[in-house]
Amino acid sequence: MVPVIPHSRPTVGAAESESVSRVIQSGRIAQGEMVAKFEDDFSRMLNLKQSVAVGSGSAGLHLALLAMDIGPGDEVIIPSFVCTALLNAVNYVGAIPVPADIDPETFNIDPGDVKKRITGRTRAVIVPHMFGLAADMDALLRLGVPIIEDCAQAVGGQHKNHPLGTMGRLAVFSFYATKVMATGEGGMVVSRDRDLISRIRDLRDYDNRPDYRVRYNYKMTDMQAAMGRSQLERLKGFILRRREIAAMYDNALNRLNLRLPVKTPGCIFFRYVVGVHGDIDRWIEHSARQGITCARPVHRPLHGYLGLTGYEHTHATWLSALSIPIYPSLTNEETGRVINALVNCTEEISI
Ligand SMILES: *Cc1c(COP(=O)(O)O)cnc(C)c1O
Repeated sequence: MVPVIPHSRPTVGAAESESVSRVIQSGRIAQGEMVAKFEDDFSRMLNLKQSVAVGSGSAGLHLALLAMDIGPGDEVIIPSFVCTALLNAVNYVGAIPVPADIDPETFNIDPGDVKKRITGRTRAVIVPHMFGLAADMDALLRLGVPIIEDCAQAVGGQHKNHPLGTMGRLAVFSFYATKVMATGEGGMVVSRDRDLISRIRDLRDYDNRPDYRVRYNYKMTDMQAAMGRSQLERLKGFILRRREIAAMYDNALNRLNLRLPVKTPGCIFFRYVVGVHGDIDRWIEHSARQGITCARPVHRPLHGYLGLTGYEHTHATWLSALSIPIYPSLTNEETGRVINALVNCTEEISI
């Protein structure tokens, strides 16, 4: 039996083990010095003054909305084609989520559709850079509504020459186990606005304050931070390897009847998502039979959960988008197996 190739796999090893062990041996395992160092390293990478480490990307989105004073009666625009973390964050603060359709070429939120959904109550747009490809930030910034960049899938990516996470009012990152940089669970919030950053710092933990208000326990541990620092040191290499695998896929798959992902120089290929013909579940089953785990890149669009209709591009994309394994630890041999499985699928699955 050939081993199964998973859809995601963290790239972790001796460097992570050693740095986490050192923290454990130090006896200071909660939020402390290592978190502060990780924040500094992260700020330096983005050339920003401050970052705040948090327990998850979801916690980061929640704090970003709270720091912007967004609450009941306010509307927040989010894409429909994304995980429920965004919908949750808007609901955590009691605001009204307004899903928008996507651009079917890039899988990113469509600025034209966002524009139609702006009202007097719109307070923010949460913009994920889907699968590591920058959203159309120029058009989105022109809309004049504050933007929260969701860089959960796009750490190290760029839009033209700007690092992702440096163009919006705030940006949120995730270090969940499947993401580009992994600490098990974890996240980061960044902004150029010192006032927003200090609010987020204040809300992240609850102890030893002169006043009382509702605060959270959204801290990262020093063990996660140590792992994050090791991963951050390897980030450039991770991205190069992702691009290398993407290029192998591009070369091998362009002769098949598939729609290949749009690429830009700043794209980091968190996912490699192809458009397929025929029943997507059959593609997933047929590749699984060959030991390759492919997946829908978004489990179910948000408008479906909310009972809304009219999201034509999101719906069509959900029916045809297939995410195939891509991560730095995927070997060339494994990449070849994924390619063979897709060749086999195109032969077997006729429309
Ligand atoms: C993973 C993800 C999140 C949520 O991050 P968690 O750390 O899992 O809470 C938010 N937005 C996007 C686009 C994601 O991919």
